[in-house]
Amino acid sequence: MVPAAAPPVAVTGVLARSSHPAPEYRLGVRLDTPLNQLDPPHRLSAARLAAFGRLDINTVTDLIKHLPARYERIEAESSIIELKEGQIGRATGEITATRFSGGKGGRFSKSGRFEAVLLDHTGRLDLVWFNQPHMVHRILPGMRLRAQGKVARYGVGLQIVNPVIEPVRGTEPEHPVEPVTEGQTGATLRPVYPAVDGLPSATIQKFIAGILPLVVDQIEDHLPAEYRQARSLPLLSEAYRMAHAPSDEGQHVEARRRLAFDELLLLQLGVFLRREQVLRGTSAPVLGWNQTIDQRIRARFGFALTPDQDSVVIEIAADLQTPAPANRLLQGDVGSGKTVVALYAMLMAVAAGRQAALMAPTEILAEQHFRSISDALQGSKVRVALLTGSMSDRERAERFSGLACGDIDIAIGTHALIGQSVRFASLAVAVIDEQHRFGVHQRAGLRGKSGTDDRGRPMTPHTIVMTATPIPRTLALTLFGDLDVSTIRHLPPGRTPVITRWVQPAQSGEVYTWLRTRLDAGDQAFVVVPAIDAGASTAGEGGDAELNDLRTVHARLEAGELAGKRLAVLHGRLSAHTRDAVMSRFRSGQIDCLIATTVIEVGVDVPNATVMVIEHADQFGLAQLHQLRGRVGRGAKQSVCVLMGDASNPDAEARLRTMVATTDGFELAEKDLELRGPGEVFGARQAGAPSLLVADLMRDRDLLSLARRDAQAWIERSPSLGTPKESLLRKRLMQQHGRWLGLADVG
Ligand code: ADP
Ligand code: MG
Repeated sequence: MVPAAAPPVAVTGVLARSSHPAPEYRLGVRLDTPLNQLDPPHRLSAARLAAFGRLDINTVTDLIKHLPARYERIEAESSIIELKEGQIGRATGEITATRFSGGKGGRFSKSGRFEAVLLDHTGRLDLVWFNQPHMVHRILPGMRLRAQGKVARYGVGLQIVNPVIEPVRGTEPEHPVEPVTEGQTGATLRPVYPAVDGLPSATIQKFIAGILPLVVDQIEDHLPAEYRQARSLPLLSEAYRMAHAPSDEGQHVEARRRLAFDELLLLQLGVFLRREQVLRGTSAPVLGWNQTIDQRIRARFGFALTPDQDSVVIEIAADLQTPAPANRLLQGDVGSGKTVVALYAMLMAVAAGRQAALMAPTEILAEQHFRSISDALQGSKVRVALLTGSMSDRERAERFSGLACGDIDIAIGTHALIGQSVRFASLAVAVIDEQHRFGVHQRAGLRGKSGTDDRGRPMTPHTIVMTATPIPRTLALTLFGDLDVSTIRHLPPGRTPVITRWVQPAQSGEVYTWLRTRLDAGDQAFVVVPAIDAGASTAGEGGDAELNDLRTVHARLEAGELAGKRLAVLHGRLSAHTRDAVMSRFRSGQIDCLIATTVIEVGVDVPNATVMVIEHADQFGLAQLHQLRGRVGRGAKQSVCVLMGDASNPDAEARLRTMVATTDGFELAEKDLELRGPGEVFGARQAGAPSLLVADLMRDRDLLSLARRDAQAWIERSPSLGTPKESLLRKRLMQQHGRWLGLADVG
């Protein structure tokens, strides 16, 4: 039979060869062959194709990249009497009896227990399936079959629950003479694939086992041979072979290591390549630093810096004294003193006769920064200006020209500050507060805002990004691999940690009665209701669940426990203007209790607010709970955070318990990563970032740091990955990361 030539199809699969003329492969199967164009004996039925489609497997490449989720050991076969309790066993015999005991609904119920007795000449083994009534039709007395699974003792007998079974032809001996297995352990491995209805793992396995040998040699490795050897990585084709058909444990471990490392290395190369593209050929103003400058700056703070702040100051000062534009992530819990450190850096710029800018995600925050920095600089010659969207055109024009001619030393504002049309005379330090609200790319917009160097080339300011949502180190390295990270771990002295309590919703009466006594005593409070996800909030009647929730709580408190108190609501549907107005009334003490959605999450700083009650606390993520809690405990008074919620599931319970147990944002962030899994944390933070299919940021920390180190060195050596040896690597990198990282393909 002459196979039909594969029709010309676009090369989509990442594994596929590109422009090489297609060599003649047996059966014409190529990596880019769509599954619906396979010839017999590999041709798939429409139903199978559809099932593969549901797994997003449409081409041979997709198929090869569908990796086993785990591997089952296939044990050497033994007679039933030799089966050992607690171990995986495998035996062959005849079914002598079956029984189905249904749950509700009798024979046709989905629930229930199906038992079959397997007998060989040495003894009896019970096979048990739960909630699989169709087994009644599959397993009939008189059948011969082979069963494998974990052997358990049940009364006096042995049983296997949910065994893997295969029918055995009548002529097959009970104990095959030839060994079923390979290797010294007497066990071999069976890959178990993610499956869907109508496409069980065993079918996928057989199909892959048929196709893989036809295409495995077509898999081209994007890693140059010398590099692969230096890192003892197997060939890519070999890695896929070992992943799908390992001959021992060591092989699939090695395969996984290669494939996981590949993901991490490509990601890190992408991150460093972007850094290179953003910064290529540009330099930053070199700022002077000496004892006099240091002392003059420190004199501005009414306190001594903490040891953590001191060491971060030293790191930053080192950055700013070189012409390489700094890129530093400054992380520390709410109130840990980041802004003070950032102000230090800004004042280094001013001392050098240049400018600094501080960008906040909201106007409320920008104003807050403006107030505290103006206070700190009172009586100095430093000229500070606030720039927000709500100023008049005249004011704004005035500020803009102040920036352009250098009359303003420190500009504080929202991201409008780094807009295309904004000109600075000489911006040396740019501080961005709450990084994740801005997105990574905005930094690129800073390029050229520092005037030109002595050879007329545009300069880029040093950049410091502050975040109060601590990012676990593993994640920070991955997402911000091109940022240096500084951390403030300990809060300044004299803080009273917030007391956190977890109570059941049934106790809300007591909680609010107690809250009233706090308000009577002059304290202020937040009551937070969860933002319900968009999907749940589309209900008709013009209301959404979030607002309804807010209204319900408001109405109840207004008529009940907090009757007569000055209440106000705050949510995302209010205009920015109204929100600001509510906030400033709260700040000035004209409101006792604010009932809000998570819009209060960031930046609100009201020292007299000492109580926070979070309704449905079980519905919030850890990071969010921590951010919310950070709104209280900002003054000298003891603050209390009450988490109201059911332990609706084990994860929710773990989150609430963690919140009660610790106020350390870093501990919480690591816990969050553990509970939610990096995929989710990763995705939420960086929209568009591809998910990692093989690598696991927690489990593969070591691989990640190796990948990071290698990627950095690689890009330093070969800044555009432009050599012929790197062309396939570069191509795959662009396919996977080009878009979300905004990489320019100039190679
Ligand atoms: P962050 O920006 O991390 O939220 P800030 O820099 O705004 O923290 O500091 C929070 C509060 O702590 C401010 O009122 C600040 O003046 C004060 N603070 C910062 N550093 C110290 C310190 N070393 N000693 C005492 N108070 C400090
Ligand atoms: Mg702050």
